[in-house]
Amino acid sequence: MPAYRPGKDASQAEQEHGIDDAIKLASNEAPWGPIPSVVEKIADSAAGINRYPDHRATVLRERLASWLSVDVDQVTAGAGSSGLLQQLALTYVDPGDEVLYPWRSFEVYPIYTKLVDGVEVTVPLKDECHDLEGLASALTPRTKLCILSNPNNPTGTAQPMSEIGTFLDEVPNGTIVVLDEAYKEFMSPGLGESLTDLVPHHENLIVLRTFSKAQGLAALRVGYAIGNPAIIESIDKTLMPFAVNALAQTAAVASIDGHEEVRERVEFLVGERNRIVAQLRDVGWTVPQPEANFIYLPLGSKTDEVYLDLEKKGVVTRPFSGEGVRVTVGSSEENDRFLNALLGD
Ligand SMILES: *Cc1c(COP(=O)(O)O)cnc(C)c1O
Repeated sequence: MPAYRPGKDASQAEQEHGIDDAIKLASNEAPWGPIPSVVEKIADSAAGINRYPDHRATVLRERLASWLSVDVDQVTAGAGSSGLLQQLALTYVDPGDEVLYPWRSFEVYPIYTKLVDGVEVTVPLKDECHDLEGLASALTPRTKLCILSNPNNPTGTAQPMSEIGTFLDEVPNGTIVVLDEAYKEFMSPGLGESLTDLVPHHENLIVLRTFSKAQGLAALRVGYAIGNPAIIESIDKTLMPFAVNALAQTAAVASIDGHEEVRERVEFLVGERNRIVAQLRDVGWTVPQPEANFIYLPLGSKTDEVYLDLEKKGVVTRPFSGEGVRVTVGSSEENDRFLNALLGD
């Protein structure tokens, strides 16, 4: 089993290099805490945590359904979208069944595949994007799950819903397609909306989203799934009792209530992302078109060297040795630190 490798903390880098004021741009977190109304609600709920939470997260499901304009039996909540991915693997993959995904992609896909003794089948990215034709050719009668991170972590690229729809037309009903939209909020609206463009037309599609990234609730562990009520009912059976904790449920509802404020923050980060990319491209860097809250530098064999150089200057990013470096978009000051460290002051 590969172990999950979390992004390095700023304090760890400070110790290793004998520096101070390091910044972490390694885990695609929001640079700020949650919006103030959410923090208040969490504080109010803290005194009640002697009680188990609502296992079914009823209030949150209802709030999600009305917010997303879907039926309440089409949504469920889990312990982060990572928790929901684990539930999907436990529910649908028997030993020897195949799990198909592009590579490189999100690190938990191979871990959960092995956890249930599944067989991983990967299709290499093409120009840092999903090779949807390649994926369609890799489908077999044993393919139980196909997982697409869109935008893709770590390359940041996203495919339009129209192209994903064409791919879905080729997927047999016995294969469940998981569209992991952890970074949905940062995508260009022109790429389409999975809940209206795809979900109504594909019974074997399940969309995953999270409160960890745009909403800034990473430490609370809450994500959600939208799709066919039969799939929702099945994966609910594999939820660890009370996995979505009470503070997370309260915070998620409050964060939906404050979605206008969240959207302003997202717009700021998208602006910062575009500023970084424009500046890098101006001086000749190749940067795949980012659709999430991070950028990817395809550095190949120079990856480790550039990563270490940035880290010594107090900018902690996420390296994929021999492939590239992923850099989270942070506050303006943090982004300037990164640009100065990379390009020289
Ligand atoms: C960050 C991330 C997630 C999930 O996070 P949770 O905190 O578990 O909701 C899921 N998928 C991808 C591709 C991610 O990058």
